[in-house]
Amino acid sequence: MSIKALLSPEVKAFLKRHDIPLAAVFNATDMKRAGYGPAMKAGGHLVAVGVSTCQNGHALRTRHGKCVICSPATLSFSRRYEAPGEVYLAYSEMGSLYKVGITNNIANRVEQLNAQGTGGYYDWVLLAIRLCAAAGEVENHAHTLLSPYAVREPHAGRQGSSREIFRCSDDVALDAYRRATVDDHPKASKRARVASLPLTERTREMLIDGGVRTLSDLLDLTEAEFQFHRYLSGNAKREIAAYLKMEGRSFRKVLPVTEVQPSAPK
Ligand SMILES: [Zn+2]
Repeated sequence: MSIKALLSPEVKAFLKRHDIPLAAVFNATDMKRAGYGPAMKAGGHLVAVGVSTCQNGHALRTRHGKCVICSPATLSFSRRYEAPGEVYLAYSEMGSLYKVGITNNIANRVEQLNAQGTGGYYDWVLLAIRLCAAAGEVENHAHTLLSPYAVREPHAGRQGSSREIFRCSDDVALDAYRRATVDDHPKASKRARVASLPLTERTREMLIDGGVRTLSDLLDLTEAEFQFHRYLSGNAKREIAAYLKMEGRSFRKVLPVTEVQPSAPK
């Protein structure tokens, strides 16, 4: 059954209200959570349909099997985790401290760090900032790399261990930041690549439904394969071809087939 056929009016309304595109909905018909969970993660899907109903009769679950309609908070968590955002690296010279975090307004954020006296210091400056496809995942990854250097943070009158403030050398901080945002996270940035291409939503959905999730997946198709891609309508093909041309990209060229001479009959 197609995804559209699996959407009850209530689920449809929920998706619309939370601005969840069809491309982010996974068809988990006949699958158990152990199966659809990892598949959703790999595909960057937010919610699954075709799942068993919760005690209130909803059939829309997260990759962890939670009913999204009963607990929409789980959704905003994973959205923040996978949503694009700016991951910054800030530094306090007086404290010799680094902080990695996410923001959508960096000027404001640095001001806030100083107004709050984050880590007990008021001289925070911005060292680096980068727009990431899955900002929460990148942030989390940087925090994990820096976790051996995490410091206790006196923050808002509450004493506790912080996962977000680190005392280490410049090299360690910059290296972790760089690895998390660039080298170490091809998956995060790739995942969002097709979803963020400047194509119509319908075309992006078709690509993702057809198993094309990254730009390199797409470029790995030969032109002939692409023309016959059964998921794509003619409009989508024209749109993609125009986009690739504009970007100066092209499909993999077909290797010439070496002709094999039949061996002479004995
Ligand atoms: Zn429910």
